[in-house]
Amino acid sequence: MHVIDSHAHLNEINDIEGALQRAREAGVDKTIAIGMDLDSNRDTLELARRFPEFVFPAIGYHPWSIAADQVEENLAFIEENLKHCIALGEIGLDYRAKAKKKFQWEVFSRLLTIGKQSGLPVIIHSRFSHERCHRMAVEASIEKIIFHWYSGPLDILDKIIADGYYISATPALAYSPHHKEAIERAPLEHILIETDAPVEYEGRVTEPADVLLTLHELSRLKHMDALEVAAVTTANAIKFFKLPQSCSRDINSVGKSNQHPD
Ligand SMILES: [Zn+2]
Repeated sequence: MHVIDSHAHLNEINDIEGALQRAREAGVDKTIAIGMDLDSNRDTLELARRFPEFVFPAIGYHPWSIAADQVEENLAFIEENLKHCIALGEIGLDYRAKAKKKFQWEVFSRLLTIGKQSGLPVIIHSRFSHERCHRMAVEASIEKIIFHWYSGPLDILDKIIADGYYISATPALAYSPHHKEAIERAPLEHILIETDAPVEYEGRVTEPADVLLTLHELSRLKHMDALEVAAVTTANAIKFFKLPQSCSRDINSVGKSNQHPD
């Protein structure tokens, strides 16, 4: 089993060495560490330096973190450090966040411009704002986008898929009807799996090893073998983030156990 946790806030996990060790033992090959403001972006880059080939960094400015007097500093840091990253994010809109809608649109729009210039994939948080997030990303001509933990309307989902974008599944698949509906409808080729660790799902605080929970829920939903779902979603993540192919042998060998593809 080889899986990738495509979205985890590793800087928020206390016993990071233990958590990454448990992840490796569970079959997690790589993790994408996600930043959301100046401090977490710095910590995320530091973790990527500490755990090369296992932790790959994305830095961003989360709608929950947006504050008028910190925007310039945050954007400047991102512009300066994206060259060390595999993606821009987490960025987006959240209509339940403190910052006013209009201000969120302004900041998100500037971040999308930075994303476009970098050519990197973009990780989007679109809570209660799916339509607007999708529209703004299209208008900014962003090529590669993942709508993280997508639980929005199905008509917007159809547009996301038609545009060639991706969505990600979390352990919330076990109980969230909206998330389930979206993941059921999206083709597996457009799905990545993640934990959003250390997010708590029904009382369980997650870490990257729990991406296996997502995998098993997803397999159940798609009526497919977990190994097969692992192979497809891992290949999706490698392609999406342009990650090194360290587990390609296993991906290629699924269903062809007598062959040794090199
Ligand atoms: Zn997140």
